[in-house]
Amino acid sequence: MRMCLTGDLGGYYTGAIGQDRDQFGVKGDFVTSPEISQIFGELVGVWFIAEWISQGRPKKGVQLIEVGPGRGTLMDDVLRTVARFPAMADSIEGIFMVEASPELRDTQKQLLCGPDAQFTKCDAGSQSNGKHIRKPIVWAESLKSIPVEANKMPFIVAHEFFDALPIHTFQSALASAAPSKPLATTAPAASPARPAGTETNASVSYEWREMMVSPTSPTLMASAQAKSRAAGKSEAPEEFQLILSSKPTRHSRYLPESSSRYRQLKHTPGSVIEICPDACLYAADFARRIGGSAGVQKPQPSGAALILDYGTSETIPINSLRGIRHHKLVSPFSAPGLVDLSADVDFTAIAEAATLASDGVEVHGPVPQAYFLELMGIKERAEMLIKAVITTQGSTTAKSIENSCKRLIDRGPSGMGKVYKVLAILPENDGRRKPVGFGGDVRPT
Ligand code: SAH
Repeated sequence: MRMCLTGDLGGYYTGAIGQDRDQFGVKGDFVTSPEISQIFGELVGVWFIAEWISQGRPKKGVQLIEVGPGRGTLMDDVLRTVARFPAMADSIEGIFMVEASPELRDTQKQLLCGPDAQFTKCDAGSQSNGKHIRKPIVWAESLKSIPVEANKMPFIVAHEFFDALPIHTFQSALASAAPSKPLATTAPAASPARPAGTETNASVSYEWREMMVSPTSPTLMASAQAKSRAAGKSEAPEEFQLILSSKPTRHSRYLPESSSRYRQLKHTPGSVIEICPDACLYAADFARRIGGSAGVQKPQPSGAALILDYGTSETIPINSLRGIRHHKLVSPFSAPGLVDLSADVDFTAIAEAATLASDGVEVHGPVPQAYFLELMGIKERAEMLIKAVITTQGSTTAKSIENSCKRLIDRGPSGMGKVYKVLAILPENDGRRKPVGFGGDVRPT
């Protein structure tokens, strides 16, 4: 997954984008919320402004950090909004964009700094001056390049970033050394996790086995080809497939042991779990920047992180690896490097990693995107925008604003308002202050 998405050679995000290739938008592979409506980024901006007010309106030391900024649309809308609050805009010392793709870094610079802006080299990577708020914007390939400083108030946003981080999939099976007959394993991609408590047997021992991406054997390729020809189909079989490792692997020995959520499923044979260690590393990094840690003693926890993505709030994701191309779901094993890959985000794992990494943070949510956006005032903002454009640009523009908002808060089974969720990491305050958008209010201190 990592090689296909961000590998140096032909990665989906990092490979050269040809004329006929753009990840985003109607002509690309997928459309994201900030690209659907400017209101999305405006409300994320308002959320950070509310946090800045609630955390005492500091006059300096504020950082804005975005990981995985795509075309830069979200940060552009955030900065346009923050610029309307000069006291907060003045408090910003640096804006940081963590982006693996050189092409996307360039696209973001053009949008945020203007078409003629130039990059200059800096310690973290490269930088240029922003057009909304005349502050330096720094581009880094990884979050590690952005120094963690005790006296800063970091506001961090990650939208559709965590779902692009590589996952490992494991299935519980009879231990290899166990003498009893081996457990039949069904096709991994389709095998559901059995409900806890079924078919457990205390006298046999189980172990986790990893699902591995393996080249499809020539015999299987030939038989799949023959089958699809017989069915009158022209598509070629996938060159890769998921197979269950016959022995424990380096990852299967320690990742599924890292949380009691996984450990309790081990003795239910056939259980499938997906684990994203990178997601936990990022969540822990956010938490340490906000709450401090043994390595970074903050005078007091400050800042906030907002993570918006699709995934599960309580259950562990299973069988969620998917490929997306031209707005359709495709096999994740088709056209490596040309197909977007993504997996459901395990919000509970993120919350666990954040609170384990720093005693100075607490986590709110996840709440459904519709709940968050409505509390943040999406309907009121849409009405204002519609009023503003109806006389100047006509009813077609007004209708499209209305439709875009409806799409973002659609609560249908696969609607964006339901499938996408929002989680916040905040300075620890014993749960006394809920943030706006999560059922709380602005509490100026
Ligand atoms: N947030 C944007 C883009 C989402 S697509 C939006 O909502 O429109 C995922 C983004 O994360 C892309 O910009 C991609 O290049 C970037 N990305 C993916 N993996 C990354 C990694 N490991 N490090 C840094 N950036 C990464």
